[in-house]
Amino acid sequence: MKSPPFAYLAPETLDDVVRGLAEAGEDAKVIAGGQSLLPVLALRLGRPSVLVDVARVPGLDTIDVVGDEVVLGARVTHATLERHPLVAAHAPLLAEVAPLIGHAAIRTRGTLGGSLAHADPAAELPAVAMLTDATIDVRGPDGTRSVPARDFFVGYLTTVLAPDEVVEAVRLPARGARVGDAFAEVSRRHGDFALVGAGARVGLDEDGRVAELRLAFLGAGSTPVLDVEAGAAAVGRAPDAAVLGEVGRAAAARLDPHDDLHASASYRRRVAGALAARVLATAARRAGAAS
Ligand SMILES: Cc1cc2nc3c(=O)[nH]c(=O)nc-3n(C[C@H](O)[C@H](O)[C@H](O)COP(=O)(O)OP(=O)(O)OC[C@H]3O[C@@H](n4cnc5c(N)ncnc54)[C@H](O)[C@@H]3O)c2cc1C
Repeated sequence: MKSPPFAYLAPETLDDVVRGLAEAGEDAKVIAGGQSLLPVLALRLGRPSVLVDVARVPGLDTIDVVGDEVVLGARVTHATLERHPLVAAHAPLLAEVAPLIGHAAIRTRGTLGGSLAHADPAAELPAVAMLTDATIDVRGPDGTRSVPARDFFVGYLTTVLAPDEVVEAVRLPARGARVGDAFAEVSRRHGDFALVGAGARVGLDEDGRVAELRLAFLGAGSTPVLDVEAGAAAVGRAPDAAVLGEVGRAAAARLDPHDDLHASASYRRRVAGALAARVLATAARRAGAAS
């Protein structure tokens, strides 16, 4: 199918992007890689009257380390996350996860900011942003505000972004010493959206006990899910298979996944529990736990 008609703006500054969005009202949309928005238009699931393209805005495709943070511009593509040396060194989970997003052609155009703003609960990057405690910098008419990833996603394909706001950058704390991350998902075929997935972060103290433990899930609710209770059950304990399995099963039991054509809620919950135990074990090993 063909898209409905729309006006097209290609401003050269972020402030002009915001101005274009504000002048067009609720009917405008930012376009970045177009890998989610163009299918939405082609299927006529949305009919924005104006598209405001961020392609010409300089500085949105950079990756820097500033202090103890990795700062990624909103227009950094999934393909860049796969191969950028600063990502590999300081935020390796992004590099590990990026190849799981669609196919190579999609990753060449699809962007980090687009994935977060689209807020698909089955997408990898929103869950990873929550897991890694990222902050999302958002530009609007009153300047830039910073939103913790855990507060950014409010419902199915819905974020706290106002119609005249644009994602500018994503900041991740650089991964520290004795901290390990891991991610796993189940999909029918490589390149398909995952049916369900889990990411883990485990930090160990000097005695090898759990100092920090975080779990995030995708495909397990109407938003990506950060389990805020998992850490409390594990801190101070040895990260052995029994403890991590128990933490993963308890986190999966707290999920509220959905039934759809692809999988039942009970299947999603069962697989989430198994994936959680697996990624916790890998993250603990990467943090330096004896296996
Ligand atoms: C066949 C196929 C398979 C896919 N598989 C996966 C998958 O397995 N995992 C996955 O995560 N994704 C998948 N995707 C989606 C893809 O990763 C998109 O790249 C991503 O969701 C959106 O990024 P984009 O830059 O293309 O955004 P666009 O499509 O340009 O925009 C998407 C939404 O975000 C908004 N937006 C974009 N940039 C900004 C910004 N800077 N500020 C504010 N709003 C913004 C737009 O207004 C729109 O609402 C798939 C897509 C296709 C077509």
